[in-house]
Amino acid sequence: MYVSDCISINESGHLTIGGADTVELAKEYGTPAYVFDENEIRKNLRAFKNSMDEYYGGNGLAVYASKAFCCKEMCRICMQEGTGIDVVSGGELYTALSVDFPAEKIVFHGNNKTYDELVMAVSNNVGRIVVDNVYELETLSKIAAQQGKTAGIMFRIKPGIDAHTHDFIKTGQIDSKFGFALETGEAMEVIKKAVNMPNIKLRGLHCHIGSQIFDIDPFELAATVMLDLFKSVKDETGIELEELNLGGGFGIKYLESDCPRPYAEYMKNVSKVVKEYSEKLGLKMPFVIIEPGRSVVGAAGITLYTVGAVKEIPDIRTFVSVDGGMGDNPRYALYHADYEVVCANKANEERNTVVTVAGKCCESGDLIQEDTKLQAVEAGDILAVLSTGAYNYSMASNYNRIPRLPVIMVKDGKSRVVVKRETYEKITENDI
Ligand SMILES: *Cc1c(COP(=O)(O)O)cnc(C)c1O
Repeated sequence: MYVSDCISINESGHLTIGGADTVELAKEYGTPAYVFDENEIRKNLRAFKNSMDEYYGGNGLAVYASKAFCCKEMCRICMQEGTGIDVVSGGELYTALSVDFPAEKIVFHGNNKTYDELVMAVSNNVGRIVVDNVYELETLSKIAAQQGKTAGIMFRIKPGIDAHTHDFIKTGQIDSKFGFALETGEAMEVIKKAVNMPNIKLRGLHCHIGSQIFDIDPFELAATVMLDLFKSVKDETGIELEELNLGGGFGIKYLESDCPRPYAEYMKNVSKVVKEYSEKLGLKMPFVIIEPGRSVVGAAGITLYTVGAVKEIPDIRTFVSVDGGMGDNPRYALYHADYEVVCANKANEERNTVVTVAGKCCESGDLIQEDTKLQAVEAGDILAVLSTGAYNYSMASNYNRIPRLPVIMVKDGKSRVVVKRETYEKITENDI
């Protein structure tokens, strides 16, 4: 039942996260609410950072992909742990800068950054802007010239690798809105263009082959495909690119049956490929960047709800409705994402009923999980949905004008609010 080290059951039979009783948390902060274990987040960040040190001799940087879960406190935690941060919008960039995150360690992604976002990135000296298309390169070059600066960039490349993941989150193939294609020569062409631009410094190349990937092979393959391109660039331009960004996408445990490979194993195997293959091609070892998002925060977070109506439809199904739904977790509606659901106040009882957990939004598709195992529950029980730390808070909406949830951070059994619950006043604040 436990998908993460930070989840347990205490002597009252209540589910705990980071040593805090979730039933008590529900009482104190109300539901629905997101709860994270800070130690688990820090442990994951450290594991990635340490493995960069161990396997790349410090010649690399672990960068947290903040789109998985972005708020000021998360940026502070990354800063304290010494990782970089990857942002994909002005809003995420603003959040990182608002806690004085070192700009040199910020990586700015996105397939259609706006003019204003690019100005913001250059003004604030963002270390690496990952350029996605020629239009962006030209715009950026002009902005950098206007500001009398040199913009550090990488190019996003489509290495054309099928990472065997869900179609909606597969981004490495040619039919993708992200990046430059290899096989058409598009990538080489834009690289040659950039190296002649006076206000652009091409630091290296980037790829991101997908998300929730359990295998190591696609990452190894991506590394070799990218290094082949490094070699071609050297042969054709005489320039040896310095940085290789291999993106994120490491899988996590959503269900008990999920078995992601340990991250240290990815790091070890991929670093071996990078080292050996660089040497084989006569290239110097590049500075390597990785961008884990989900794997840092996913299993460190849960969502707490209170059960309301329980609707039993004989011979069909039982709907257990909760006080949240697709507004705080749109992932089931989007791509039928899997989750384990546990009754927090009956955590030591067996999950011997099969129910559908529904939200409170006016949408039949507003489900958290269909046909999932759960303890026998009734109105007033507290439900915990596990592994909701990634792409839940960050994908939340105000559909039905339901206020967004607070984020509670737990550390060594103690809890604090790091994002306040939204109020009705806040929701209507911009209405004229
Ligand atoms: C989404 C994304 C990541 C993080 O992916 P995870 O699956 O959360 O690890 C990293 N890099 C880029 C460019 C991304 O788009």
